[in-house]
Amino acid sequence: MVRRKSQVVSIGGLKVGGTNPILVQSMTNTDTADVTGTAKQVMELAKAGSEVVRITVNTEEAAAAVPKIFDTLMLHGVDVPLVGDFHYNGHQLLRKYPACARALAKYRINPGNVNIGRKHDDNFRTMIECAIEYDKPVRIGVNWGSLDGQLLTQMMDENALSPEPLDAREVTMNAIVESAIRSAEAAERHGLGHDKIILSAKVSGVQDLIIVYRKLAARCDYPLHLGLTEAGLGSKGIAYTTAALSVLLQEGIGDTIRASLTPLPNGDRTEEVIVCQQILQALEIRTFTPQVTACPGCGRTTSTFFQDMADQIQRYLRDQMAVWKPLYPGVETMKVAVMGCVVNGPGESKHSNIGISLPGTFEEPVAPVYVDSKLFKTLRGDHIVAEFITMLNDYVEKTYARTEETANV
Ligand code: SF4
Repeated sequence: MVRRKSQVVSIGGLKVGGTNPILVQSMTNTDTADVTGTAKQVMELAKAGSEVVRITVNTEEAAAAVPKIFDTLMLHGVDVPLVGDFHYNGHQLLRKYPACARALAKYRINPGNVNIGRKHDDNFRTMIECAIEYDKPVRIGVNWGSLDGQLLTQMMDENALSPEPLDAREVTMNAIVESAIRSAEAAERHGLGHDKIILSAKVSGVQDLIIVYRKLAARCDYPLHLGLTEAGLGSKGIAYTTAALSVLLQEGIGDTIRASLTPLPNGDRTEEVIVCQQILQALEIRTFTPQVTACPGCGRTTSTFFQDMADQIQRYLRDQMAVWKPLYPGVETMKVAVMGCVVNGPGESKHSNIGISLPGTFEEPVAPVYVDSKLFKTLRGDHIVAEFITMLNDYVEKTYARTEETANV
């Protein structure tokens, strides 16, 4: 994968773009005016691995809450950059609540609802002036659900007069790109630095997103934030997000990513963070957590024991990462196999750092464990999971313990 060349933008000290790591972003779904609830969710998202967290700033109460949320995070030692998501009234809120403007690390501006390019585009200009005054970058985030209607109409009219008119879908894609580029140019005309701008142009169709981002990437060197907007629920949201982002990331397009999943009521918001990490790890762009290879199971498995075990091991690995990461450099690259029977179990185990092959139907009730491709031990009885976890811990300690050499890296 050859990464697209983009300039570098700093978000609260974090570098985005250029050759810097592609960052995982997320967004809260709490009422921002609820300081405790929002700070708690930001901390959960940050703990799960979100490197930038966006919060909506939609009312005066929300704007007043932002510095308190920031202070709460600082009190807990969580320094994840907070991005303010503004629509319609961002110019008023940033002016009236300077502490909010200061506490945020970046402002998201939707050009579809700030009157940009209109006779009275004071809203947009005011937000840009605040970004300059407080030395903050902005993300100009176009969303086709709130695309600048005037621009779209103008481009549709021009297209209708063209000798070879494009179809309406293509004109819409072009209008989305045009909205992002023209807004960025307007921001620079208002005095914002070229290196203070990130762009995004989200749509909800996979092929449309790919088309839009290819066009956007070819038109500018601003860092790009990727996301399939309104990706949806469950497996649909995950599959569509993965399909769209993977194609673009593989082409070197994208500097920050978000999975806009719809959680179930009381569902876990951190899932969108995990999905982003898994996409980057699957593409071998970044590594976050040791991965478990598990077979899907079939008629050769006698129970769901091995699925439960695979799930327990994956959760254990994820939970342990906070402890392991500073102590065991490189542990995130570890591969663990949990397999259901002897057909592919030993083979897959040998391809992993450590792997276990559970007994299938009619097999002897033993579970061989392979370490670094060699049969290491055979487990049996009722405590296989606990014993395997002990072996995992020993392996991590033995293989990844920080040495003087790694400490200096
Ligand atoms: S490894 Fe065994 S249990 Fe798992 S899918 Fe293959 S044959 Fe079935």
